Amino acid sequence: MNRKYDDLLPSPDPVSHRLRLISANWKMNLNHLEAIALVQKLYHLLRPEDFRYAEISIHPPFTSLRSLQLSFEADRMPFTLGAQNVSDQASGAFTGEVSAQMLAKLGVGYVIVGHSERRRLFGETSEEVARKAIAVQGTGMHPIVCIGESNDERRAGQTLEVLTHQLDPILSTYPAKDLDGVVIAYEPIWAIGTGESAEPEVVEETGMAIRHLLTERVGAETASRIRLQYGGSVNPGNAHEFMSLGDIDGLLVGGASLDADTFAMLVKSC
Ligand code: PEP
Repeated sequence: MNRKYDDLLPSPDPVSHRLRLISANWKMNLNHLEAIALVQKLYHLLRPEDFRYAEISIHPPFTSLRSLQLSFEADRMPFTLGAQNVSDQASGAFTGEVSAQMLAKLGVGYVIVGHSERRRLFGETSEEVARKAIAVQGTGMHPIVCIGESNDERRAGQTLEVLTHQLDPILSTYPAKDLDGVVIAYEPIWAIGTGESAEPEVVEETGMAIRHLLTERVGAETASRIRLQYGGSVNPGNAHEFMSLGDIDGLLVGGASLDADTFAMLVKSC
């Protein structure tokens, strides 16, 4: 058993005092055997300081959650288990759905809700996303709430309006005392899976605008504790620049998280 990282806990950013979070969204890729092989290789490639720099959450398909839970425990890998979706219902006749309680029982720490693929391909509304986030919060896990505008919306100058609309149901219905446990992932749709990430200036400006919106809605103290991730074609060459932006506390990584060497390089570059 490898105990090299026994003492590892991420430290907060010295300026923002927020804990950084780098999340691997595997989407519908890798079976459970491939999943185990990837995390074992990744663990081997990362250094203790990488785990001290940021919490690293791995979001495999549901079918790999139990295998990764056991691998993390057996080899004491300091990754946090994550999921990509959840039902807004607690239990019952909802064929094909998985509840927040089931995920919490597996040791899941973070659940992505409202990814643009779920909004676009499965018709999820912002109200449904808010219900899912509340279901996640109700079991002690943290939701990673994805928001982002399309290319047309950005060109039309509607970015802030769209983001406000997407966040509104969460900000008005989520238990106020727990809002600081929400992670918001700003993922412009045009940057996801395209190889064309947003310019750091755009992410900086939008991150500030989101923080400003949060301050107006939930007060400066809570707003200053909510973590913001950037997602959209993050790779080992641009990750550092996004992480150095004042309002950005983490990254949500799709394609570049599917290869252990690439993802390890990305984390190390931060
Ligand atoms: C994502 O799936 O959330 C994502 C940002 O994907 P990619 O990194 O491949 O653009």
